[in-house]
Amino acid sequence: MITPITAQLLFDKLKDIKIGGQICLFTEEKCCELAPVINEINALKAEKNAVILAHTYVSPEIIFGVADFVGDSYALSVDAKNTSADVIVFSAVKFMAETAKILNPDKDVLVPSTLNGCSLADSITGEHVRKLRTQYPDFAFVCYINTTADVKAECDVCVTSSNVYDIVERIPNQNIYFLPDKLMGQNIIVEMKRRGVQKNILLWDGTCYVHEEYDPELIHYMRLEHPDVKVVSHPECSPAILKQSDYVGSTSQMIDYVKNTSANQFFILTECGLTTRLQLEFPEKKLVGSCTMCKYMKSNTLYDILRVLKSPNPEDHIVLNPDLQTKARHCIEQMFAYTAAKK
Ligand code: SF4
Repeated sequence: MITPITAQLLFDKLKDIKIGGQICLFTEEKCCELAPVINEINALKAEKNAVILAHTYVSPEIIFGVADFVGDSYALSVDAKNTSADVIVFSAVKFMAETAKILNPDKDVLVPSTLNGCSLADSITGEHVRKLRTQYPDFAFVCYINTTADVKAECDVCVTSSNVYDIVERIPNQNIYFLPDKLMGQNIIVEMKRRGVQKNILLWDGTCYVHEEYDPELIHYMRLEHPDVKVVSHPECSPAILKQSDYVGSTSQMIDYVKNTSANQFFILTECGLTTRLQLEFPEKKLVGSCTMCKYMKSNTLYDILRVLKSPNPEDHIVLNPDLQTKARHCIEQMFAYTAAKK
């Protein structure tokens, strides 16, 4: 029996969130509206043997009210692989829900967000990759996890922001076509050079619209204002940003960095969801500056999660062609194999 949450408990938990604009502002009235929805979702989860996987970038009431697993794309793909639930509600964007379906073909995977694209994933199709493969037959095709199942099915191995450098380094082929993130690709080239690894790397021209907009000047002014600040950025930012950062990592790695370093002032260059999480989990650490929101991630709402659990529309279910699913699964399993081989 799940203990229902009260509006007061929810307000006490979320009232101190300061970063993230109107969407992340919690009043007593708002918590009174949200608490019954949270309780209904949690009761339905138990009834339907469902789990909710939530990306760190979705809104705080989802993360703290109903999510069973919270993390970045790699952590969630592992959680998706290990769950024994019959139903997976993937509160994030569609390509992530597709990854959960690829790893769990017999489970019902539901995607609740209404605007569930991604500027990176939507920049390339499987057809593009097929053409590139005929153009570059001697290349290993490496895709970032932010790709559709259609694209993964055409690639050799997939990577996430937490394992990208180590996997690219260990791919035997010297010729690599990395897609779709041009900025992450540029960062791979810099990192391979730093590690003394010889690779010939070609890049697709996609970007994450949230991370590409950061300007290195901003870091300069932030350091003038806060000389002790630690700048923490995501590998989807440009090389100019990474060069000026004290730490670069996936969202899970950023959390570990903030948790484990003795510094107490941070400027976080990624989506607002991470800053709100950090604010709640480490209230003793000070976060300076603003953050940027992803419209796709923030289109996830409790109301849509409730709707897909109660009576999903046909388009809420992830349905994939079995052949495509098998090929895409191979691409993801190659990533797990590289990761396991490193341990
Ligand atoms: S933050 Fe960027 S990469 Fe992530 S879902 Fe949004 S647009 Fe895509």
